[in-house]
Amino acid sequence: MWRKLLIGLAVLLVAGAGTAYAARDALLGWAIRQRVQQGPDLAFAKGHDGIRVLICGTGSPEVSSARAQACTLVAAGGKLFLFDVGDGSVRSLAASRIPVNDLERVFVTHFHSDHFGDLGVLINAGWIWGRETPLAVQGPVGMKGVIAGYEAAYALDEGYRSANMPHLAERRAVARAVPLEIAFPQGAGAVRVYDKAGVTVDAVRVAHDPVRPALGYVLKYKGRKLFISGDTEVSPVNLPAMQGADMVVHESYAGHMVRRAIPEMRKLGMEFNARVAERTIPYHADNIALARQAEAAGVKHLVLTHLIPYPENAVVRGMYTEGMGDLYTGRITVAEDGMVLAF
Ligand SMILES: [Zn+2]
Ligand SMILES: [Zn+2]
Repeated sequence: MWRKLLIGLAVLLVAGAGTAYAARDALLGWAIRQRVQQGPDLAFAKGHDGIRVLICGTGSPEVSSARAQACTLVAAGGKLFLFDVGDGSVRSLAASRIPVNDLERVFVTHFHSDHFGDLGVLINAGWIWGRETPLAVQGPVGMKGVIAGYEAAYALDEGYRSANMPHLAERRAVARAVPLEIAFPQGAGAVRVYDKAGVTVDAVRVAHDPVRPALGYVLKYKGRKLFISGDTEVSPVNLPAMQGADMVVHESYAGHMVRRAIPEMRKLGMEFNARVAERTIPYHADNIALARQAEAAGVKHLVLTHLIPYPENAVVRGMYTEGMGDLYTGRITVAEDGMVLAF
């Protein structure tokens, strides 16, 4: 009697363990499939008939764990265009599930580090993760030197990985980007740098002295106009690019707050920070002057990025655009990393 009971119990235990093991195995299989399938969102470039914009970085040179530096992704005509690739951009694009191997072209506005710090990561990751053709990176004169610098920095990595993985060795050319430098004809303020399948991109000179040239870009598609300012002070030079734009993604500087912050910094003994802040005032776009210019140019939607100072707390957020609404009748958006806008 006891013997039969014990045998029965043992059979039950073994059967139970077997079922649990099978269930665990099925669960593990499901989890692995989920992880492997968790790829990029290939529909981002194609899911909208007009222009779609992802603000992939709203940062400035100020280091932030919460914001990537300058980064704006544009989808138009089924293609993806990236404007600037500051530190944290690649992680930000991954967080938005952007298929970075499908980038049609990268445009760099100027060579302040917060606008191209992640370029090496982007090129290298594309090679490792299956990009098929070398990435085209277009920017001001100086682009070739920057790309050559990244090539030198990644040369050992390229060698190690090629030795280990024949499929990477086969497409070693992809480990190196193709630099395209933009030359302006004498006296020209704008030059067409891309024209395919109804999408045009013009590079325009902006005002960011002593950075020369510093560029902005105008992208047009299906009668819609987008201006991406790069870094610039508010200047009449930018008026033609802004004129009648449906959307302007513009650098932004809350001068009224920075001017208030400088004496506070000095009171706290932060002389170094105070000096840095003072030096940034003349070559960025003061929000009030920007609002006035956007109104004069008939801009429909003004999107503020490259935010200085970061509107991280409720008070700064509340005051950040103070006074702009009195001067500008269009729509104002203070961008956040990961924000998607379409028109
Ligand atoms: Zn900048
Ligand atoms: Zn700059």
